[in-house]
Amino acid sequence: MTITRFDTLIIGQGLAGSALAWHLIGAGQRVCVIDDGHVSSSSLIAAGLINPLAGMRFNLRPDTDDCLRASARWYAELQQFFGPQFHHPLPMLRLFRSAQQRRFHARRLEDPGSAALLGARFENGDCPEPVAAPFGGFAQHRTGYVDLPLLLATLRDWLMADRALRHGVVALQDIETDASGVSYRGMRAQRLVFCDGARLRSNPWFSWLPLAPDKGEILNVRDANWTSRHIVNGAHWIVPLANGEMRLGATHDHKYVDSGVTPAGRDVLLAAYAALRPDADVDVTAHRAGVRPGTVDRHPFIGRHPERPALWVCNGFGARGALTVPWYAACLADHLTDGSPLPPEADIRRL
Ligand SMILES: Cc1cc2nc3c(=O)[nH]c(=O)nc-3n(C[C@H](O)[C@H](O)[C@H](O)COP(=O)(O)OP(=O)(O)OC[C@H]3O[C@@H](n4cnc5c(N)ncnc54)[C@H](O)[C@@H]3O)c2cc1C
Repeated sequence: MTITRFDTLIIGQGLAGSALAWHLIGAGQRVCVIDDGHVSSSSLIAAGLINPLAGMRFNLRPDTDDCLRASARWYAELQQFFGPQFHHPLPMLRLFRSAQQRRFHARRLEDPGSAALLGARFENGDCPEPVAAPFGGFAQHRTGYVDLPLLLATLRDWLMADRALRHGVVALQDIETDASGVSYRGMRAQRLVFCDGARLRSNPWFSWLPLAPDKGEILNVRDANWTSRHIVNGAHWIVPLANGEMRLGATHDHKYVDSGVTPAGRDVLLAAYAALRPDADVDVTAHRAGVRPGTVDRHPFIGRHPERPALWVCNGFGARGALTVPWYAACLADHLTDGSPLPPEADIRRL
């Protein structure tokens, strides 16, 4: 049998596998990505929100500066290379959900590291968009969204043109490793990196990693009398799209982690919309679901298998992939090409 040789095989062409392939190919490696046509893709379902102060307490995580810088740089680099705009910077209105959240915001104001992210406060009556905001809110900066379906399709075509993408389900039982590398059905490489998203939980080598899969449902809606000019983010969020539709999301379910849509998920989202705009005339134009590859400690999983040195993982980006993947995929590519250290908070040796 003819053997085709690569430096790196990558399983999965979601955002993580695409970004890693981009950086490794840029560094001169021979790469082959294998994907099954996004059967279980979280990236294709995601709204791609970039929100550096996520969560109820508006916490600023230590990796945020690195992630903001790396994501802005990578999406701009892709735009320059391919043409289309992938990253859409857009201000976000954070709607307080309770009086307690106003206090979290006041605390955040005392932190000089967050100053560049915090804009003007508003009360219910002067919210810049026609939505109910009973506890008021504030404008947030350095937010936006990434058009992930466009980005994945563009990178898929680029990988195919470079003969660096194969279509198919990787049969994990056919992967063989030895001291000098890895073989899979006529391919030989120094290493194989799993960028397989939430399917990591059935991966024979990495299922021990504490993944916390989180199913999410999301709607596309049209409101007869309104298109937001901001991302609106309260208990749920609304993202305006270029075609006049808005994405409305998302639900969270840690128990039933399949990727089927449910009437209950749709009802939750439409109830959230009605709470924001009680008399709105709204049409649902799409309803999708996917599984976020969340982790128990909320940090990604990057690194090498402790006993199979040819096997690596780049996963666990949870609900923050659009912001975090560009930084961590670049760190892993640097590690694989010049031995730069991996960020300790993401390195799986922490586990
Ligand atoms: C409803 C919802 C809303 C979200 N909203 C946001 C958001 O606003 N902002 C944000 O940053 N993130 C959001 N996310 C999370 C985001 O999708 C993830 O952080 C990120 O996209 C994960 O990318 P990934 O490449 O690790 O995984 P995935 O995108 O899941 O990619 C894995 C790929 O590997 C393939 N694969 C797996 N196993 C095999 C195999 N054996 N053989 C071949 N192919 C295989 C899969 O089919 C898939 O294409 C959301 C997710 C959901 C579900």
